[in-house]
Amino acid sequence: MKIVMLGAPGAGKGTQARMISEEFGIPQISTGDIFRANIRNQTELGKKAKSYMDQGLLVPDELTLDLVVDRLAKDDCAKGYILDGFPRTIPQAEALTRALCEQNSKIDYAIDVEVPDENIVQRMSGRRACPVCGATYHIHFNPPVQEGICDECGAQLIQREDDKAETVQKRLDVYHAQTQPLIAYYKEQGCMYSVDGTRTMEDVFNDIHKILK
Ligand code: ADP
Ligand code: ADP
Ligand code: ZN
Repeated sequence: MKIVMLGAPGAGKGTQARMISEEFGIPQISTGDIFRANIRNQTELGKKAKSYMDQGLLVPDELTLDLVVDRLAKDDCAKGYILDGFPRTIPQAEALTRALCEQNSKIDYAIDVEVPDENIVQRMSGRRACPVCGATYHIHFNPPVQEGICDECGAQLIQREDDKAETVQKRLDVYHAQTQPLIAYYKEQGCMYSVDGTRTMEDVFNDIHKILK
């Protein structure tokens, strides 16, 4: 089962991808997490990616494509995966289709988590992330048991630099210009599904579960 999560930044893609990953036992592959790990480890890729991410821009396709193709070739991807944050541009989607086509495979489900821009700012300003295990929380909608501490691994939670209000509007503009066209792309491919992302995390997950069955 190969799944692509679509939706605005902060729509809940990562939250849902994590739940799907646990339910179906397939890995969640988040390009944002991969870039952030590279920034933490101060790799060459991390240094290049950071300047774009800090401005709310997309990392160029040249830096993104090989990374994903290499990741999908790993053993744990054999039964399928959930792509969370990739593809984000039409050229990325076309490259993914080509790479899968070479293995006689394809994306089975593209799931758009629909949340209007008005709700996004609130989602992002309250987001807190675990820099160690990647778990995501919200100060109001999904708080950790102990304030500021990851339930899963005990690490100190952080607010992402690019979740600050100044960058959020830029990321939304980039989403509408570069990523939203993917909805038409996957419609064309016949695997496009949408869920109402404004409901509770559990309700959204139930809707996705019905689609995947
Ligand atoms: P969000 O949770 O807001 O959807 P992500 O963690 O997926 O954010 O991505 C954070 C940042 O990493 C993006 O704003 C972008 O700069 C970069 N990024 C992540 N995935 C991609 C991608 N597929 N192509 C280009 N840039 C990406
Ligand atoms: P994305 O990966 O699309 O950027 P996240 O999964 O990180 O989005 O979610 C963004 C923020 O919104 C997080 O703080 C998360 O806890 C919260 N969130 C996710 N889903 C919901 C929901 N259905 N209702 C309210 N808040 C949510
Ligand atoms: Zn953690």
